[in-house]
Amino acid sequence: MWLSWVLAQIRKAQTMKYPHLEGKRILILSGHTHVSTGTTGFYHPSKRLYTSEAILNLDIAYQAMRILELDGVRCELGHGNFTRRATLAERFDPDAIISFHAQANAQTATRGFEIWYPGDDDLSPVLALRIAEHMGLTGIVPRVPAVKNMEVDDNAGTWKDDHDGLFETCRVRPCVIVEAGFVSNEEDWKVLRNTEGQRMVAAAAIRGLNAFF
Ligand SMILES: [Zn+2]
Repeated sequence: MWLSWVLAQIRKAQTMKYPHLEGKRILILSGHTHVSTGTTGFYHPSKRLYTSEAILNLDIAYQAMRILELDGVRCELGHGNFTRRATLAERFDPDAIISFHAQANAQTATRGFEIWYPGDDDLSPVLALRIAEHMGLTGIVPRVPAVKNMEVDDNAGTWKDDHDGLFETCRVRPCVIVEAGFVSNEEDWKVLRNTEGQRMVAAAAIRGLNAFF
């Protein structure tokens, strides 16, 4: 009896694209809210192509949810203010949290991804590194450094509150923030603006998650 159960588990694991996520519970968060929309970037002023970070984050988070659900991984999508996200984190009791964000800079040449982690545990920096290792498939280049400790590298940007708030409100670890790229940079924006690019960012995060477990 137990042998057939073991064989069934092995078969199931073999058919999963991300077998290390089997039995895991993953909480996906999209940064910011419809009220506090995060950065609002544009890649070319004359073209007036504006985007709200909150919408972009939600699109990427949706793609991540889709990838996880297709693989049969238990997951929840959290958005809205910290109280809502923290309540969800407590209720869902996840094994890991990934929060998606994007950045903007007045210097339009500034580009690349960063993965942030809280400085209060040993698991989050490892997950951040694993995700950074898989971001290459997106075509978005790494920032230097690509992996950042919230307590050491805090850049006090306009979205600092969202970083602090998440790490302080959600006590689940590992917990990381994927700053997928700069909406103010043309190269990054080419990736981030369309569904395929958003799917690649989400897939890189999930691959990193699978490598972590
Ligand atoms: Zn943000």
